[in-house]
Amino acid sequence: MNAEIVAVGSELLTPFRQDTNSLYLTEKLNELGVDVSFKTIAGDARPHLTLVAQTALSRADLVIFMGGLGPTEDDLTREAVAEALGLELWRDPQILESLGKRFAARNMKMTPNNAKQADILTGATVLANSSGTAPGQWISGKYEGREKIIVLLPGPPHELKRLFEEQCMERLRSKLPPAFIATRVLKVAMMPESQCDARVAPIYRRFTDVTTTILAGAGEIQLHLKARAPELQTAQGRVDRLAGELEDELGDAVFSSQGESLEQIVGYFLQMRNATLAVAESCTGGLLGERITSVSGSSRYFLGGAIVYSNQLKADFANVPEELLKKYGAVSRLVAVALAEGIRERCHATLALGITGVAGPSGGTPEKPVGLVFHALAREAGTEVVERNFPGDRKRIRWFATQQALDMVRRRLM
Ligand code: ATP
Ligand code: MG
Repeated sequence: MNAEIVAVGSELLTPFRQDTNSLYLTEKLNELGVDVSFKTIAGDARPHLTLVAQTALSRADLVIFMGGLGPTEDDLTREAVAEALGLELWRDPQILESLGKRFAARNMKMTPNNAKQADILTGATVLANSSGTAPGQWISGKYEGREKIIVLLPGPPHELKRLFEEQCMERLRSKLPPAFIATRVLKVAMMPESQCDARVAPIYRRFTDVTTTILAGAGEIQLHLKARAPELQTAQGRVDRLAGELEDELGDAVFSSQGESLEQIVGYFLQMRNATLAVAESCTGGLLGERITSVSGSSRYFLGGAIVYSNQLKADFANVPEELLKKYGAVSRLVAVALAEGIRERCHATLALGITGVAGPSGGTPEKPVGLVFHALAREAGTEVVERNFPGDRKRIRWFATQQALDMVRRRLM
């Protein structure tokens, strides 16, 4: 069965509101073994809604509409779906009565426009909404000769979620052949996307029963694997086999095979080795510390450090010799080393990171262009430095720098 989700609301076509409901619904449908083939967002305009409803019905077996079930002029989902299906709407006196009671219980007057929330498509099953006024509706039947299920849900996320769990999950499950979806997420650090794809594509192309999606971000590539089968074990076996082959190919570039973040993995390794970490950050301005401490329990291995943006603080807090700063400039290999070693000593840490670079967009020079970052990792046995020229804007360069630094810790402790 393939599904289409239709989000209704003009606000979802502005820069200010996002359709988050469909993410939730996609997750739930996947749990049931249903793939989402299309997602559509439509504003509150009757002709557009009718067209969208007709299109969705022509290409999906299950169509879930959400939003536009409220009492106001612009809530038009019921009318549009009725038109697309060629069905009449009728006003259900029982729902009308319960709407009246709901308002009375809150000492509120029910304005006449509320009545249209009791309008039901002929033949539809009413899905009680225990957290709002507009009930959902469920219609199953033939459309252009094919069996379809059409569900109408309210837009407010808390209402939609509750109604879907309480009224739709079991109803859908009973209509579907047993199907299980197994997923795996592999994460790869600091590898260009094209290089990664060149290595993994010949492998995942052979696995025709697994869907592979590649998501690339700054310094991180995620390989999302998904398989479907009548038994969970079979589905799981398929994704596990592909994951195994991908891990063999990519080796230690894969830092996580169950979806963990890089900062989580670094945390595991530090704890496993009984090691502590400190940081001295210049161009990342605390982002590295923020990422490390976003992991619960990080106090067991993260001591802290310093944001040393000015040269003065680099000297004062991380013991960077002033001659170094004068001679080589703040963004230099030797200053990165001094930052890491200085903060390591001051914090009495097993390992310490120093980061210095040009995040841009201003401040670049021909010798030290925007994107140039030095990362140093100091430990008892010595200090290693990685120099990189990151592409992108300020945000991306700073993220890249933290990713590189965390990956150095991971590789050192692996
Ligand atoms: P009501 O008008 O009774 O609140 P409704 O079914 O008409 O219910 P909408 O008016 O479309 O729902 O939306 C109500 C609220 O829910 C709005 O704040 C809207 O931004 C939010 N909302 C609607 N659709 C979505 C969506 N797809 N994802 C996230 N939020 C949504
Ligand atoms: Mg709306």
